[in-house]
Amino acid sequence: MIPVDEARQIILDGINPLPLEKVNILEALGRVIGEDVAAPRNLPPKNNSAMDGYAVRAEDTKAATTQNPIVLTVTEDIPAGTIPKQPLGAGQAARIMTGAPLPGGADAVVRMENTRKDGGKVHILAAAVSGLDIRVAGEDVAAGETVVGRGTVIRPAEVGMLAALGRSFVYVHQRPTVAILATGDELVDIDEPPSDWKIISSNSYATAAQVLESSAAILQLGIVKDCREDLISKFREASRADLIISSGGVSVGDYDLVKDIMKEVGNTMQFWQVAMRPGKPLAYGAIQGVPVFGLPGNPVSSMVSFEQFVRPSLLKMMGHKNIFRRQIRAILEDDLEKMAELRYFIRGWVRREAGRYYVRSTGEQGSGILKSMVRANALIVLPEAETSIARGTEVQVQLLDTSLEHADRPD
Ligand code: AMP
Ligand code: MG
Repeated sequence: MIPVDEARQIILDGINPLPLEKVNILEALGRVIGEDVAAPRNLPPKNNSAMDGYAVRAEDTKAATTQNPIVLTVTEDIPAGTIPKQPLGAGQAARIMTGAPLPGGADAVVRMENTRKDGGKVHILAAAVSGLDIRVAGEDVAAGETVVGRGTVIRPAEVGMLAALGRSFVYVHQRPTVAILATGDELVDIDEPPSDWKIISSNSYATAAQVLESSAAILQLGIVKDCREDLISKFREASRADLIISSGGVSVGDYDLVKDIMKEVGNTMQFWQVAMRPGKPLAYGAIQGVPVFGLPGNPVSSMVSFEQFVRPSLLKMMGHKNIFRRQIRAILEDDLEKMAELRYFIRGWVRREAGRYYVRSTGEQGSGILKSMVRANALIVLPEAETSIARGTEVQVQLLDTSLEHADRPD
């Protein structure tokens, strides 16, 4: 049996980010970019108007007021996307729309509200200083500037920036494919009629959902009997994935064969049993370099082990730097008892009140009690050394529900 932190260290030390693949920028959303993207040209590419109005030479407008308008001759109309035909001379202006490039000689824009059209002339009703309402070439991004750096998680803002730079494809870390298999003679699949002594393999689905929630892909390998040959062939089949998760068969029962098979097929079993509850019987190894997580069969043990060990591994494979759930300190609202030497993960409900977090247990904590997991939005982490934790104590809490991070209404 090894401590949780050591298990996590061993696992993560052996996991590396997957190679890069080229994807469309929309497919890159939520993924980690593996290249530095530099601007091939200025953004905006040319000086252009920030307003609908008239491009002018600021010095021509110096004396303009509502009472004493300056009258300028309009040389042309410049809608956005067109090229000005001629530069402005003294006493001239060009009608210009937002985003259109400025004609030569113009150094300011007088917005429509401060002008009055008069045939081929325009009355300027307010003085403009040089630079007024002009977007300068490169004011957003200068040519050569790195705007999206390697390791960045692509959000809508990055997608917009990549598009603005003309990048339709980028290189991101591949998503791992995760082989999922459930072991146990008592298991049936969801649509088979379960007789009284059979149970539905809910782990096949809970694990798959956890993998998908982590943004990795699933390879469902179904249910395997507690039988040497079947297990060996399924584990071999699973080794074409990037990571393998099995559930069940890792305890000390007569039919708990997964540990032996991992040793036999993979020839590596790095550890078995972690000092935690739930989730103690975890077995970890590799088959042909593919990490194998032998998760315990009990539904909550399986889910909690996934949270502690598999999710961070998948995020690391996808190139993420922040691979752990957000942890907060919360005030405990129950008295809790535990065994020494094991780290406990108690299913809990966190709420926020007057800027502080409070947490209480969601009830019965047996490793087969899935209901308390359904009711939980967090895991309360109780350290190995403690045996009883009184209400009112500040405890460490892992948030399973990211919406908690923005529970307070913005001002
Ligand atoms: P095991 O670790 O194989 O001894 O399994 C422990 C318990 O977990 C079993 O008695 C089942 O009740 C439950 N269990 C095992 N596999 C699954 C599964 N795939 N889905 C739901 N429950 C399971
Ligand atoms: Mg079993």
